[in-house]
Amino acid sequence: MSRVEIGAHDRVFVLTGAGISAESGLPTFRAEDGLWAGYRVEDVCTPEAWRRDPAGVWAFYSARRAAGMKAEPNPAHIALAELEAGLGDRFFLCTQNVDDLHERAGSTRLLHMHGELGKSRCERECGRAPVEDHAIYASLDQVPRCPCGGRLRPHIVFFGEMPLEMGRIQSEIDKATVMLVVGTSGSVYPAASFVHWARQNGARTVYIGPEAPLNASAFTQIVEGKAGQVMPGLFQIEAAIPAL
Ligand code: NAD
Repeated sequence: MSRVEIGAHDRVFVLTGAGISAESGLPTFRAEDGLWAGYRVEDVCTPEAWRRDPAGVWAFYSARRAAGMKAEPNPAHIALAELEAGLGDRFFLCTQNVDDLHERAGSTRLLHMHGELGKSRCERECGRAPVEDHAIYASLDQVPRCPCGGRLRPHIVFFGEMPLEMGRIQSEIDKATVMLVVGTSGSVYPAASFVHWARQNGARTVYIGPEAPLNASAFTQIVEGKAGQVMPGLFQIEAAIPAL
């Protein structure tokens, strides 16, 4: 298998999706036995669902929290943490995942564009920052209220809502000379566009996963395989030349 070379002056932007957590036991989005088996997205993951049935939304995300707590980072999460350790500020990780397996593997320069399972925020968008919240709520009565009186909702970007920190993501992509994309089907926008933005800037683009994504033609290299199997030892980092 060919390795992915990272030059002494390269800046790497990584985008991960549900596939990187599959080998940790968290189901992906669209697999037959996937996250949505038995659920309709519009019943649990939209602003309308929250307005109509907040108890149902919390039941779904409480179950996701319980599964997330049991999962452990796999060798792919660890390979990215090691890559960051080797590159320092020349590394940036943007994940579509709401689990915390990247942090638990040691990643620090990362952004959760679709929110985080372990946080909640006010449904009224009253301006207070999201709070740490790992609780598993058995009923709606248990869900705390914000000081403003609004109910807490999961800190998750529902379908139809804007992803978080798009300005920062755009500026990190603009700086990158290499984009690595891991385990995402290329069907959820705007994340599926990132590879095109990187290509317009002249970056090398590498996809890692067991099957080609929908936007496969935008990649300059495809590393085929399960992330946890192919990522350890995949990256070859050229030593930076110290400034005189
Ligand atoms: P997706 O389900 O649409 O696609 C998953 C991709 O992962 C597929 O292309 C599949 O080939 C690939 N894959 C499967 N096993 C893999 C492995 N072992 N190694 C590498 N790749 C593998 O997921 P998506 O494109 O990330 O979009 C899903 C959306 O759902 C995201 O917005 C995300 O927020 C959310 N989601 C998050 C989690 C999580 O946090 N763990 C889990 C499911 C869904």
